[in-house]
Amino acid sequence: MKFGRVALVTAALLILIAVWVGQSLAVIRRAERQVLLMDTFVRVIVHGRLSQAALEKTIDATVNEMARLEGILSAHAVGSDIYRINNAGTERREVSAETLAVLERAALVYEQSRGAFDITVGALMRAWGFGTDTRAVPSPEMLAEALSGVGFEHVEVDSARRSVRLSHPATRLDLGGVAKGYIVDKAVEFLAARGIDYAIVDAGGDVRVLGGHPGQFVWERPRAVRVGVQHPTQRDALIAVVSTHRGAVLTSGDYERYFVEDGVRYTHIVDPRTGQTVRGLSSATIMASEAALADAIATAVMVLGAEEGKALIEAFPDVEGLLITEGGAIVMTDGMAQFTELINR
Ligand code: ADP
Ligand code: MG
Repeated sequence: MKFGRVALVTAALLILIAVWVGQSLAVIRRAERQVLLMDTFVRVIVHGRLSQAALEKTIDATVNEMARLEGILSAHAVGSDIYRINNAGTERREVSAETLAVLERAALVYEQSRGAFDITVGALMRAWGFGTDTRAVPSPEMLAEALSGVGFEHVEVDSARRSVRLSHPATRLDLGGVAKGYIVDKAVEFLAARGIDYAIVDAGGDVRVLGGHPGQFVWERPRAVRVGVQHPTQRDALIAVVSTHRGAVLTSGDYERYFVEDGVRYTHIVDPRTGQTVRGLSSATIMASEAALADAIATAVMVLGAEEGKALIEAFPDVEGLLITEGGAIVMTDGMAQFTELINR
């Protein structure tokens, strides 16, 4: 009788322990952080079977890594690779492997877009006053001067010596159209290497998803992450939602950074071939496995417009796009529709 009771209590205890151990292995915890990086709000959400403390530590390390990369790639950060190249005249400067990786993506999209995407727009951006306190339409002389150094052929990359040289004295690099995507990619890779199976990194709308949105327990199937596409004319409204379990979804728009002069809106993307700010598209949303590639393609599409832009997207395997014209027309690649829900049209 007495023995029976001990056995029962022991059995009950064992079951409790088994349930507790099972649960702590099966429970998926979540941690989230929002920080100001790259002139925008960056949100990192991670889900995993790690302890809460371990998740928080992993986010800390990821945010530090993103800040480190910004310090290498930002043209404004004194001492960054890009700053040093831009201030070297026509001399070579040694750069990090990360800078070379970004330059490689930039070169690819430069070639595919026949120069619509060109990171040598640095002086041109400055002529329009972007990145300064006084944004204004430049005089024809200023424009011509800035345009003289535009062209990727002025960028000499020596991969073996890990160095870069600008062969024209007026050339200045600006990675603003690709670096944010690259840093988002690196953040996701950094998390994956630390045992994170599910993450969302959102740098002001440049989103990359790892594994989708899991449930509370490991046996629940992860849901797709829903990424909103801002309505081009209605503030705080969405025009579409893109759902995905993996890869990048990001948008270049004419409504984020711009200025108005004499009733005309000038957006922060320039056509490297003419020096003028671009017109025609309100936004370009791109899906790709890599955010760096998606970022550069989105900027290129804004330059090329709907028709040529769509053709550029189609030239890349596994890249899709949703373009909205200034007139409000929606142009999608064939593969985009299956991920996209249109709303508020
Ligand atoms: P964001 O989404 O961060 O506002 P985008 O990805 O749309 O920016 O890229 C815009 C930025 O790209 C500009 O601020 C500038 O730094 C750079 N840029 C502008 N025009 C071009 C171009 N034709 N090719 C490459 N980069 C460009
Ligand atoms: Mg871009």
